Amino acid sequence: MRLQTGREMSGMTLIIEREVYDAMLLAARRAAPLEACGLCGGKDGRVTQFYERTNVDASAERFRMKPEEQFAAIKDMRAKGLRMLAIWHSHPTTPARMSAEDVRLAYTPDVVYLILSLANPDAPDLRGYALENGSPVPVAVEVHSLSTDNQHRPPSHEGKPT
Ligand SMILES: [Zn+2]
Repeated sequence: MRLQTGREMSGMTLIIEREVYDAMLLAARRAAPLEACGLCGGKDGRVTQFYERTNVDASAERFRMKPEEQFAAIKDMRAKGLRMLAIWHSHPTTPARMSAEDVRLAYTPDVVYLILSLANPDAPDLRGYALENGSPVPVAVEVHSLSTDNQHRPPSHEGKPT
């Protein structure tokens, strides 16, 4: 990570587009009680593309992607001028924290590890982690949509002639 403001939080914020978040939630709910997994492509710290991948372990406690499906996603990102920003999986019943197994299998450098927890089905919890010296450090994650961004303009400006 380029920035490091403290021990608690890595300096970066990962933006997730609303459509990507919705796709993650759908994938997690469909796969439950098993874990779902996928890759996230984007640029400039903003995830715009989600690739749900098969969890070949078909497990409620861990995931492993098919190598050929991983390569296909990476190839598609390259074709679109994106890079892999995050590796995502769901925790159907446990909190959105990296398990010891998740940390052990986190080989990929310079990505955010995203976990979507369905432990509280009414309040899905998406969290991100960067690995620093082998330890997960929380990364700020924000879900944005273009239409919501536009709504941030003051309402009084709506419809005014320019
Ligand atoms: Zn996990």
